[in-house]
Amino acid sequence: MVPAPAAHAQVGQWHHPRHPWGPPWKAPVAHSASFHIGASKIEVDFGPGQLDLSTRQIMRWVKDAASSVATYYGQFPVPMDRILIEPVPNAEGVLSGTTWGDVGGDPAFTLMRVGQNTTPAELNRDWMMTHEMVHTAFPTQKWKHHWIEEGLATYIEPVARVQNGLLPAKKIWWDMMRDMPQGYPPPGDKGLDLTHTWGLTYWGGAQFCLLADVSIREETHDRKGLQDALRAIVRAGGTINHNWPIQKALAVGDAATGTHVLEDLYARMADHPVKVNLPKLWKALGVVRNGYGVRFDSKAPEAAIRRAIDAMPKSGRIAPKGFTPGPVTGAKVQMVAQPGK
Ligand SMILES: [Zn+2]
Repeated sequence: MVPAPAAHAQVGQWHHPRHPWGPPWKAPVAHSASFHIGASKIEVDFGPGQLDLSTRQIMRWVKDAASSVATYYGQFPVPMDRILIEPVPNAEGVLSGTTWGDVGGDPAFTLMRVGQNTTPAELNRDWMMTHEMVHTAFPTQKWKHHWIEEGLATYIEPVARVQNGLLPAKKIWWDMMRDMPQGYPPPGDKGLDLTHTWGLTYWGGAQFCLLADVSIREETHDRKGLQDALRAIVRAGGTINHNWPIQKALAVGDAATGTHVLEDLYARMADHPVKVNLPKLWKALGVVRNGYGVRFDSKAPEAAIRRAIDAMPKSGRIAPKGFTPGPVTGAKVQMVAQPGK
């Protein structure tokens, strides 16, 4: 089976020296663990090698991410997600993540390369596991539309983690204020479908998502948001293991909100450079720069929209049974020889 094209956490990771041509779905597995979230199963395979982190700590990290994504979408997007943890010797941190659809019989397959000396604090700072799982929730696109795959993952990853109680809202609005300008049109920009720079792919795509979210909430008087559109796409089968034209996905999303926001924004931004007026947007939403952070202006005209974007959805938190999302804690248990008595 020819795997679907990749959705990357980082441009440039595709030509991984050990996996240059696609997902390593026949890679060796040293041991495995799994859990269920709703009707979905997440299998976590550990490749051979050493990790300072315990299996328990890695599983908490994966469960937190799965819970954030399921909380955002109202369900885990695909019935089975296989995660391969590949330990990287003498390295530290979560190094890269890549997700493919329809691999080896599974709807989604994610490779995470994790340094041998990664700490619990680094797992808690990590965004990649959540970002990769968001990729499972949209149909695979042709390369020219790759910006929407990365834009959605970039925008939704932090929002989902706030909704799940794992990040404070002020942090993600400050991050957006700081990082969104990377998606401004570069010189010679011809629009999102035609200009494949890193900035436009990740942050231009994220600007599209933020603008869509705010516009849907304006048009529906806050009854619907981008979240409703994206849930409908997943329910209609628009997940990573299926190839859909972008127009089909956007039409399903628009039907769910009773608007034409996604299709209209696509028509505006696909083949024209668009400079989104971010300062005006922050002001309307009541996101005010405050040193190296933000404060919220509750009297801003669209403060309610900002609160609705990051609030816990009405469907509530979804987590694996018996699991409460929270930070990865604790040092690895060391077996220390007891002194003789
Ligand atoms: Zn990605």
